[in-house]
Amino acid sequence: RAPEYIRSISPYVPGKPIAELAREMGLDESTIVKLASNENPLGMSPKAKAAAAAAVGDLARYPDGNGFGLKQALSQKLGVSTDFFVLGNGSNDVLELAARAFLPAGGSAVYAQHAFAVYPLVTQSVGARGIEVPARFYGHDLAAMADAIAEDTRIVFLANPNNPTGTFIPSALIEAFLERVRSDVIVLLDEAYNEYLPSELRYDSVQWLARFPNLVISRTFSKIYGLAGLRIGYAVANPAVADLMNRVRAPFNANSVALAAAEAALGDDDFLQRSFETNRAGMAQIIKGLDALNLEHILSAGNFVTFRVGDGAGVNRRLLQQGVIVRPIGNYGMPEWLRVTIGLEAENVRFLEALAFALKA
Ligand code: PMP
Repeated sequence: RAPEYIRSISPYVPGKPIAELAREMGLDESTIVKLASNENPLGMSPKAKAAAAAAVGDLARYPDGNGFGLKQALSQKLGVSTDFFVLGNGSNDVLELAARAFLPAGGSAVYAQHAFAVYPLVTQSVGARGIEVPARFYGHDLAAMADAIAEDTRIVFLANPNNPTGTFIPSALIEAFLERVRSDVIVLLDEAYNEYLPSELRYDSVQWLARFPNLVISRTFSKIYGLAGLRIGYAVANPAVADLMNRVRAPFNANSVALAAAEAALGDDDFLQRSFETNRAGMAQIIKGLDALNLEHILSAGNFVTFRVGDGAGVNRRLLQQGVIVRPIGNYGMPEWLRVTIGLEAENVRFLEALAFALKA
């Protein structure tokens, strides 16, 4: 029998797969618009696709268990040596590695209300206690989070931007927070959507590693790099910290197709730029549409936006009936809200039309 702390975990709720909705509604898959999982609507970078296809040619061998090529590419891009990196099977894996390495059973982790669902999940899975700090304007209240750190706290999770709210913490506030937090508490700064930040919000967290040995930055290839299906993410941390995370890592957790595709994607600046622009234009389009429908929404620094409809479950059902998949976020304590991922122009139009119809119903 599993311990109570495992049995009380709320399962992660993924976006509904296109094939499942097609089956349920008797719809043609090609007519379905999925804007539910913060995926890149442009697909994957052509360079990554070619590298992935080439890697499929030799799957009889184990992957490079140390991810040499990808770490070299990351090292060049971010200006720290290869021993600063931990590769993960998606950045979710990296979050779990941090919990396994630093959070003992009976310890505690601090995270914000409405923050990414995997923080409580990995906290509970190691038998630790989650300390959820009330949000401020749907975002992180860093002063309250610093105050909430207990003697047994070993990790604080920060998401910047946060999912599902899209809220952004200015870098000066994170720096001040790092100054304040005890050095035996890991600050896990989750930057899954970092590459979507407009230039005026960008900051260089990697440079903070020289001053804060307890900082762990996590990033992913699932979002702007368009490789969600391959499951590849990474952490950047000082070598002593990265080493501990690497020790608890399952051998070969990053597969060879993912390693090759991620390395190629890192070098595809053109795709990165197009993805950024597509998101910027699509965000403006969707916000305009939400404004026209008089819907409250939270300013988002990511590739998605969260808006208030009142009956989130009901509106979601009426969107699904029209073949539009967004994300209800009742499990984040926000049952009146829905989260939509920014899509291609035509997908955004479909979403806005379906939403207008769903609200009238
Ligand atoms: N962090 C945040 C804030 C996210 O929104 C996500 C994806 N939903 C992840 C981490 C994990 O993504 P992945 O495991 O695909 O890298």
